[in-house]
Amino acid sequence: MANSTHSPAEQAHRTIHAGGEWLAAYSGATREILDPADALPFAVVAEGDEKDTDLAVAAARRAFDTGDWPRTPVAERAALLRRVAGLLVRDREKLGLLESRDAGKTVEEGRVDIDCVADAFRYFADLVAGEAPGRVVDAGSPDVHSVVVHEPVGVCAMITPWNYPLLQASWKIAPALAAGNTFVVKPSEITPMTTVALIGLLVEAGLPTGVANIVTGPGHTVGARLAEHPDVDLVSFTGGLVSGTKVAQAAAVTVKKVALELGGKNPNVVFADACETEAGFDTAVDQALNAAFIHSGQVCSAGGRLIVEESVRERFVAELARRARKIRLGRGTEEGVECGPLVSEQQRARTEDHVASALAEGAELRCGGRRPDPSPERPESGYFYEPTVLDHCHREMRVVREEVFGPVLTVETFRTEDEAVALANDTEYGLAGAVWTADAGRARRVAGRLRHGTVWINDFHPYLPQAEWGGFGKSGVGRELGPAGLAEYRETKHVYQNLAPAPVRWFAG
Ligand code: NAD
Repeated sequence: MANSTHSPAEQAHRTIHAGGEWLAAYSGATREILDPADALPFAVVAEGDEKDTDLAVAAARRAFDTGDWPRTPVAERAALLRRVAGLLVRDREKLGLLESRDAGKTVEEGRVDIDCVADAFRYFADLVAGEAPGRVVDAGSPDVHSVVVHEPVGVCAMITPWNYPLLQASWKIAPALAAGNTFVVKPSEITPMTTVALIGLLVEAGLPTGVANIVTGPGHTVGARLAEHPDVDLVSFTGGLVSGTKVAQAAAVTVKKVALELGGKNPNVVFADACETEAGFDTAVDQALNAAFIHSGQVCSAGGRLIVEESVRERFVAELARRARKIRLGRGTEEGVECGPLVSEQQRARTEDHVASALAEGAELRCGGRRPDPSPERPESGYFYEPTVLDHCHREMRVVREEVFGPVLTVETFRTEDEAVALANDTEYGLAGAVWTADAGRARRVAGRLRHGTVWINDFHPYLPQAEWGGFGKSGVGRELGPAGLAEYRETKHVYQNLAPAPVRWFAG
């Protein structure tokens, strides 16, 4: 197939990219993409299914088995990744706005997301370019040359969620390309726009035909087919526990490599000593707000469980609720708005259900718990929900155990360090958590005991492309980012060369 230079925007509904062509769905089906701030459609994409998926996988297979990319020198692969980072910077404004409209986040968050996407491409370019080509192993004989090398896995399937559409895709696409793989990506069916745009940038940067493929469409058709497809070698999934389990089950049939980045129920542990000074108190409250309510809590690492020392609870929660009430809700593209809507009606209904169950189980509502009054910047048709603080929660409550993925903060208390650690670890997840304390020894002790993939001390949310991201327990399998995030996309091969071959005479005859 010819390498198309047309962008998907120029070819309405042609958001499937397979073998270098921008295509409509084979069935002709389309889907309207809604702006969550008013529930009005702002784009139309192809609604692919199994047939489109097979086409894209065949293209990726062909490009891997017969194309140049897996054998392209590392320096050239790294240079291409850097060109992609440059194009992302060029299109930052456009992509940031698109991410904001698609996912409902503020445009400032959208811009930061695009910066982080560019960082991921730069990081994996630098990482792969700086590596030694292989590890020579001492075989204990001068007549043996033994080396361990890394090779691409093959065709990678990538399935991504709606909360950080392009960022989550980039944590897969950048290392997969750096390692020399080909891929098919399936973005969330409700937020596909920036991932489609990224494929356009990869083509513009000069990626060979068939290396990068995308199928827009639902999880139960496109995603499920990718997970089971016999020509896919690896499936990397970011999303919820229920879908992730299905992906792992389907992938097991063909013994694919599987990487899962799932949900979290992330504790934010605040010791009283962190609040002894006014500045300390202000910082801990401010960051607790940020932990729980940024992107309306639709963050896998959201600090939705505040676990605060009993002696400071009342002062802390009162200030938190006072500030949460002042968070300015509105359309993410509106200047000065601090929080956008939830991504869908379904997500808001799920949040409302969690709040209702918490109240029925005895939680005390300190703020929020309702849809805001409509205003010009907050149309009634948008999926808005007020930042909500639920006090007097306990570990038996559903809202404390399950991921809400909405602007809901639950409050639990502790009296001792052991109790704080036990509460923070009392979750089937294990993605991220934080500890706030002025006592350096305690900070290290508690961080060491938390069973979570990322632990912040006196901070919440930062991540680094150089440091692995992923979860303990049901938060997932494998790691993204860092050297391990590249290793996910590689096979390890031992090449043993006998320099002086001779019979072994194991068999006498
Ligand atoms: P989701 O599981 O509903 O969907 C994720 C993706 O999987 C979508 O593209 C969807 O179409 C697809 N999918 C759904 N069913 C499938 C199936 N049977 N087979 C194959 N694919 C299928 O999740 P979501 O609602 O889009 O995203 C929210 C979830 O993602 C939350 O649980 C959040 O914690 C998690 N998440 C985790 C991380 C992380 O780094 N650990 C990052 C972001 C989001």
